[in-house]
Amino acid sequence: MTNNTTMQPAFHELNLIPEVLEALDTVGYESPSPIQAQTIPHILNGKDVLGQAQTGTGKTAAFALPILSKINIKQLQPQVLVLAPTRELALQVAEAFQKYASHLKGFHVLPIYGGQEYGSQIRQLKRGVHVVVGTPGRVMDHMRKGTLKLGTLKTLVLDEADEMLRMGFIDDVEWVLEQIPEKRQIALFSATMPTAIRRIAEKYLHQPEHVTIKLKTTTAETIRQRFWMVSGVHKLDALTRILEGEAFESIIIFVRTKTATIELAEKLEARGYAAAALITTGALPDTLVQMGLKERDLAPKRLRS
Ligand code: AMP
Repeated sequence: MTNNTTMQPAFHELNLIPEVLEALDTVGYESPSPIQAQTIPHILNGKDVLGQAQTGTGKTAAFALPILSKINIKQLQPQVLVLAPTRELALQVAEAFQKYASHLKGFHVLPIYGGQEYGSQIRQLKRGVHVVVGTPGRVMDHMRKGTLKLGTLKTLVLDEADEMLRMGFIDDVEWVLEQIPEKRQIALFSATMPTAIRRIAEKYLHQPEHVTIKLKTTTAETIRQRFWMVSGVHKLDALTRILEGEAFESIIIFVRTKTATIELAEKLEARGYAAAALITTGALPDTLVQMGLKERDLAPKRLRS
């Protein structure tokens, strides 16, 4: 993560609680990323935040660190709800909370998502949690069943709001927004700001602080960039045609999610390529998963083509 350390305050200048600072020591973060430096004070001050930032900017810690610094550990009821578009992201965010709360005794975070049986989620909700991280549909189901009560909610985070819109969850998100207490803090993060997201922000956020962080993208002059527009179902065939037509020694393919990376590696192997899924565990942005291929491992008939 790149930081302008001369301009950024240090973590200990941001009014985070000692337990959170200790956890940052443990994970080895030296200084806040720009989105963290800008967002942490607003969330600590109880302000609503409208953040335009992508994965890889450190946005999870930007909301998790100040939220943890405000948690009332003695109150074992949901104080914070994070809505995320996918089960994978919900799990990642819950794990991040766990990591940053490693020195906060008695802290409980619970990921809830579709596809998992209700029984254990309900048991854990009954036992008591401080933070719930969930996908919109399942969160809504629990609220309807009465197994997730948000009367004590202080903060709602909408993570990757544009993805939730893209995946058709926006009505569910709005339903949740209608149910939560009127006096609450909302932090909305989105990589892009389509009209529907702006409308949600205007309707539900109260005089939000705007934070915009762009990932610095630098491209080497020596790299020629080309693209081929294909619809989702044709991606594998298109990729196979490229692999058959281009001479290469090895290739890295960037895939958005861990599951999709593993699936793609398997499918390429089934088509005769030596492929392996390389999945990052932290230091790199979690979406930049890699896959390597070696031309010498290709079936001879492919080499001739
Ligand atoms: P995110 O944008 O929240 O997905 O975070 C991207 C990656 O950056 C994650 O792997 C974090 O563990 C890491 N990260 C977040 N904040 C910092 C920081 N201040 N210093 C170093 N790494 C960080």
